[in-house]
Amino acid sequence: MSNAIVVCTWGEERGGLPGGAEEVLSLAGSLARSVGSDLVWLTLGAQAAGVAETAGRYGVAALHQIDDAKLADIPADVAVEALAQYCEQQSPRIVLFNQMAATRTIAPRLAARLDSAVVMGVTEVAADGDTFDITASAYGGDTRVVYRVAGAGTPVAAVWATAITAECPEAGASLAVESVAVDLSSVSERVDIVEPAKAEGPKLEDAEIIVSGGRGLGAVENYKLIRDLAEALDGMAGASRPLVDEGWVDSNHQVGLTGKITKPNLYVAVGISGASQHMAGCGAANAIAAINKDSEAAIFQYARFGIVGDALELLPELIRAARS
Ligand SMILES: Cc1cc2nc3c(=O)[nH]c(=O)nc-3n(C[C@H](O)[C@H](O)[C@H](O)COP(=O)(O)OP(=O)(O)OC[C@H]3O[C@@H](n4cnc5c(N)ncnc54)[C@H](O)[C@@H]3O)c2cc1C
Repeated sequence: MSNAIVVCTWGEERGGLPGGAEEVLSLAGSLARSVGSDLVWLTLGAQAAGVAETAGRYGVAALHQIDDAKLADIPADVAVEALAQYCEQQSPRIVLFNQMAATRTIAPRLAARLDSAVVMGVTEVAADGDTFDITASAYGGDTRVVYRVAGAGTPVAAVWATAITAECPEAGASLAVESVAVDLSSVSERVDIVEPAKAEGPKLEDAEIIVSGGRGLGAVENYKLIRDLAEALDGMAGASRPLVDEGWVDSNHQVGLTGKITKPNLYVAVGISGASQHMAGCGAANAIAAINKDSEAAIFQYARFGIVGDALELLPELIRAARS
């Protein structure tokens, strides 16, 4: 389907959908409507359970799938080859991904194969003819920059999904999946994962409730209060980066731009100032509750609930209340 706005996803996370799928579809859908192009959703590998129904709701015109045994864990060399062949066949107007770790190794290389531009950390896309104005976050989320991408070709954009609120404009029937054939027989993956990172137990990214501690806790032994409150609320414990840098907790706990991008229902930030790089990992929470002794702390600009006070005095009380 030539000239389409193509959203490419893979995997399955919360809600039976690939991570960030609805946010990227929402952004891509409004772009497609504004330029009069079709919205196409391409999935790589096994398709997540909720894709066909979600495609209908977001006004997707065609649901494509490239499935091949070699795509099982979405290795980058194979994925880039599959996407390059897809773009050659379909000539999309633009390809949009959800920005996550794997996208960083796929999107720029796809753009290089297509001899086109790539923009990462995208928050908005507007188009006029062959010219795209692509807004992206810069300096760790402190500011925005607009890139003008002009000329023929298929630009590639990695969308910062947590910065977007998905708006679902249509209600439609589930779509039938169309399989797209590509030849991956000659690709051999150059990166061999000898031992995958151990991610035992539940993931912070999937948690409905997160209690995070920051430098305001003062000392490593006080982090236990964060764990206790998280446990009492049936949630998970997170941390700001300085606590990871200091070795108080391992990096699986770090929330933020260079840590985990989370989207809980409730995010409790304790002794955290609210730096933009931290908010990049929790700003999409349904509600933020903050405890900080500085009433001017930036975190209160994001918080729906706030307590100005000493975390070390408040936490034991909150733990007691949550347990009872
Ligand atoms: C490229 C880059 C990437 C980064 N990535 C990340 C990231 O992924 N995640 C991240 O978290 N940071 C990240 N940072 C660091 C970020 O800029 C901040 O420095 C960091 O988030 C600050 O952590 P904090 O809020 O715990 O500490 P601080 O900024 O020092 O804030 C501590 C807060 O605790 C409050 N406080 C002090 N004592 C108490 C008390 N007794 N009770 C209650 N409140 C108290 C203070 O008022 C203050 O607001 C990154 C920075 C850069 C440059």
